[in-house]
Amino acid sequence: MIIFDAHLDLAWNAIDFNRDLRLPVADIRKSEDGMAGKSRGCNTVSFPELRRGGVVIFIATLLARQLRSGPNPAVQRYSSMEAAYGAAWGQLAYYRAMEQEGWLRWIKDRDMLDAHVVAWSNDAPSERETQAGPGEEPLGFILSMEGADPILSPDQVHEWYTAGLRIIGPAHYGVSPYAHGTDTEGGLFPQGPALLKEMDRVGMILDVTHLADQSFDEALDIYGGPVLASHHNCRALVPHQRQLTDEQIKRLIGRGAVIGSAFDAWMLYPGWVRGQTTPEQSGVKIETVVDHIDRVCQIAGNARHAAIGSDLDGGFGREQSPLDLDTIADLQRLPDLLRARGYGQEAIEGIMHGNWIRFFHDAWSKA
Ligand SMILES: [Zn+2]
Repeated sequence: MIIFDAHLDLAWNAIDFNRDLRLPVADIRKSEDGMAGKSRGCNTVSFPELRRGGVVIFIATLLARQLRSGPNPAVQRYSSMEAAYGAAWGQLAYYRAMEQEGWLRWIKDRDMLDAHVVAWSNDAPSERETQAGPGEEPLGFILSMEGADPILSPDQVHEWYTAGLRIIGPAHYGVSPYAHGTDTEGGLFPQGPALLKEMDRVGMILDVTHLADQSFDEALDIYGGPVLASHHNCRALVPHQRQLTDEQIKRLIGRGAVIGSAFDAWMLYPGWVRGQTTPEQSGVKIETVVDHIDRVCQIAGNARHAAIGSDLDGGFGREQSPLDLDTIADLQRLPDLLRARGYGQEAIEGIMHGNWIRFFHDAWSKA
């Protein structure tokens, strides 16, 4: 079964972690043997591994954060928005290079989406297992920006759209120039409403993941276009301001959103301490993610709004992943786990890929 993963930070890994994503995961791990830092020597994502797991379509990010006051995870690094702008263009150029080499297919509209899905739905298993090169059929991606720091002003949204960007998450960890994000409390900053209105005008999709609660509410009041939550779990199961409340999930469902469940273990286990808690101690398994998928489905009363947004290369590796996950190819274990919870074939296909495909098909039909 093909898989649609709504959150991978591929270019950030390729450039900031200096990972050659064309290599098998085992080779990347070997090349990082003995390196200090999270995910070093135990990463889980590369192009051959995505192919092997049938993860043939995904949302890939531009992630270039300005260093701001407040909570400062390592991901915040640039001293100006202009530097973040330059770094994001560099990441965009990486995707372009991978597209030119035939590893990736950049999906920008409904026709390209439909053609990609048809091509992979007819694939022979041997096509997926190509390890040595890009293979006949490229992996498809839709380009997103996580944290709008590289957008110098709202009127630049159009420039990014023309370049192929289709989704913006206005904030990430800490504050962005436009909105309060994870680990901060507050609404939009003065340029936030103008950013959202311009996104609406050009057909840029809004990703609410990482918005602080007040920013979430204000953004949904202002922005009228299609909304998604790319990598987002349930606050009722694991309390943290990074997670969605049941009320927020209801509001998203009311807007036709799809919510991608994340595999980052700290979002799956209450009280996880990064760098201390281990998968073994917590007992977090792939099945734990099913709890979050199931909660979204129970709130919706159907299985049309839950999906996957693994975040498996989001600055962590096996040390912060479910215990029984070695690489991203293990996402293929989800269908059986869903079946064991009573989900039927149609619902499972929706969660694994169909809901995201429908979402983008609809979003781009209106455009
Ligand atoms: Zn994230």
